[in-house]
Order: sequence, then C-alpha cells, then structure tokens
Amino acid sequence: MNRETSRDLYDRALDVLVGGVNSSVRAAPQPYPTFVRKGDGGHVVDADGNRYVDWVMGLGPLLLGHDLPESVQAAVQRRASEGPMYGMPTELEVEHAEFVARHVPSVEMVRFVNSGTEATVSAVRLARGVTGRNKVVVMQGGYHGAQESTLVEGDADERGPSSAGIPREFAKHTIPVPFNDADEATRVFEEHGDDIACVLVEPMLANKGIVEPVDGFHETLRDLTDDHGALLIWDEVITGFRVGGLGCAQSKYDVTPDLTTFGKIIGGGFPVGAIGGRTDLMEEFTPVGDVFQAGTFSGHPVTMAAGLETLQYAAENDVYEHVNDLGSRLRDGLREIVSTQAPDYSVVGTDSLFKVVFTRDGPPRNGGDVDDAAVDRWNRVFRPQVLDDGVMLSQNQFESQFVSYAHTAEDVERTLDAYRDAL
Ligand code: PMP
Repeated sequence: MNRETSRDLYDRALDVLVGGVNSSVRAAPQPYPTFVRKGDGGHVVDADGNRYVDWVMGLGPLLLGHDLPESVQAAVQRRASEGPMYGMPTELEVEHAEFVARHVPSVEMVRFVNSGTEATVSAVRLARGVTGRNKVVVMQGGYHGAQESTLVEGDADERGPSSAGIPREFAKHTIPVPFNDADEATRVFEEHGDDIACVLVEPMLANKGIVEPVDGFHETLRDLTDDHGALLIWDEVITGFRVGGLGCAQSKYDVTPDLTTFGKIIGGGFPVGAIGGRTDLMEEFTPVGDVFQAGTFSGHPVTMAAGLETLQYAAENDVYEHVNDLGSRLRDGLREIVSTQAPDYSVVGTDSLFKVVFTRDGPPRNGGDVDDAAVDRWNRVFRPQVLDDGVMLSQNQFESQFVSYAHTAEDVERTLDAYRDAL
C-alpha cells in the first residue's frame, strides 16, 4: 500500500508541529501516522487515496459515522451561516441541556464547556468548592484529560505527577487506587475520608484497553462517598450516549453519581464537554454560586446544533440497536479467533466498544493488568499488518475502538478477516 503522502506530510509536520501532531496519541502509529483526506460513512480515505474501515471514529464522538444525516448537516450549516457564535446565550443551549437532563438519570442541570478535559477540571473544582476538601480519588490507568489534578501516577502510599510541569504538591491531593479494588478504595477512605472531595471514575476504563467493572465495585464507591460526605463523579466522556444508549452508562449499571462529565458524542463531532448533576450541586457554579467557571466558546451554537441533532437522530432511529449489534458481532467473532490463535489475549468491550487486549494471562481487571500487555507487539507488528489489510484500528493498545451507525456487516467481516490474518 502506497502511503508516501502521509510520510511526506509527517516529515513536513515535524518541522512546525510538535511531534508532527496536535494531540500526542496521534503520533503513536509506527513509523508515521496516517494523514486523513476525508471520511466516508464508516471509512476514512487517507492522503494517498487509500480507503480503510475506520474504528477510530474521531476517538469516539462520531456515533453516526463520517456522513452526518441531512438534519445534522442542515443544522450545522444554518448555524454557521448565521454567524458562528455570539458570546450571548441561544435557545439551542437550553434545548440541548433539556435533552440531556431528560435522558440521563443523575442530571438535572448542565454546564457546557469545550472539551472533556475542561469538564473534568470544572467538576473537580466544583467538588472541592462544595465540600471544602482537597483530595481526589482516581483510578490507576484512568484518564480524565490533560489536567493537573489527574495526571498522577503511583498508588495511595507513593505518588507523583505523571507529567513534567506539574508541582509535586498537586499530586499529594490525588490518590490513585486500582480499578475494581473495593478493599483498597475502602482503606483509602478509612485513612483520608474527611479530606476526600470526590471520587472521579470512568464507568469502565475506556482509555486503558477497556476494563469493565466487576459487580459491586461502583456500588462500593457510591456507598463510600455517601458515608464520608464526598461526591461521586462519573466521567462519561467516552461512555456518555454510547454505552447504555441515551441513559448513558449510569442507566446500564444502575448507579447514580452526583456529577457526570460528558464530551465527544454530545457535540456531534465538534469540540465539546459538559458537566451535569443535581441542581443543588450545579448551582454552586458561578454566576449562582462561588465556584468560578467560564468560557468564550462554551455552548457554541454550531456544536450545540450538531450535538442536539445527533442525539435526536439517535433517539428517533435504530442507532443503538445497530451499533450494539455490530459491536457484539465483532466481539463474538474476535473471541472465536482469539481462542484458537492467541488464547492469552482478551476480547474486551461492551455495546459499541471493542478491543483485543494483548494481555498475557486473562482479561484485565485493572489498569496495571493492561500495562503488562504486549504493547510493543501490538504497535509494531499487529497494527501495521491490519492497516495493510485496509482496517484502521486505534492508535495504540490502550484506546477504545468505536462502532458507528455507518458501519456495515461487511465492515465487520473484513475486520475479522484482518484480525485472523494478523493474529
Ligand atoms: N475523560 C475521558 C474518560 C476521556 O476519554 C477523555 C478523552 N479521551 C477525556 C476525559 C478528555 O477529553 P478531551 O480530549 O475532549 O479533553
């Protein structure tokens, strides 16, 4: 497959963009990333004109695939042609917030922002403001964006920032515990309970190979936060309006967090984030309360139009049936292939998320298990081979892969063939 244009563009990019990209993960593919010319349904076409079945799907936002339905396109174009934004409120923001509040069990009010990172930054600030406490409990291997409070590694006893440029003092306030380890979470609350503002947790680790929750884990976090006067924040940036359909992962797992962060799908492919929750908590944000929160682009009309029309389209069509059906066909097919060809590896995911994790012994229960996976083999051998078969997998071993409404049964078969060949 000829990928010279991608290689040349990367070469040019290395001079003017740091690492050739604008978000670190995009540079992960070896020996250079694929530059995209355009999307088409469930496929992308690269700068050399090669076509791939695309399971990156914008890293999650594109629930409907690359071709937005007429209604979404029309709404986006109308908003853009009427002046892209105003710095004053519009009816669209109200309507979008009403939609989210109507469908997501824990949400009564919403504050829109511009990225998942901004959402988790603001949610943590809100939790600290409301409780008057500093400490935040997160999961090892969880991801909540490029923000100071959560870029922390280590464990409850010894921890430090996972990025240069973050003061060590900040990391003292963030306590990582292993996902699915109710005993360790309980121990941390016994030791620090009076200082913990919140637990910030993804319903499943969706940036770490996909690790699903074991029965009772989220209930334990709910009980611990309730008992100690801390808030439970679910980061549904990936799972929101994907896992569990319009009710999100919290309806699937039947746990009601105090606050929820969103991103990705709710912007219909445009930059977005949001914090949602109970009125008494949300009204601690300015201008009602004292927790400062603001943004020039927040509630951007084009984003709001794209997001709302996307969600309405999903509500009125068989979107979730379709993506979940293809998701389970992929997982079933992969399980069959893995069981004979790579029995140490695990097929993970639920609803429209899927992945094969190159673990060495069984399904991962936490982020550490995924760290032990054969990451280098995945990067250097497996992914390039699948790419040569015309199938675009996520950029590294850790990111989820996403089914969209535009994908077809044929895309699934082609993908299973590529896995069969490469494994
Ligand atoms: N939280 C989770 C669970 C995410 O997966 C991500 C991004 N993948 C973020 C937060 C950060 O979102 P953004 O990249 O839009 O800032």
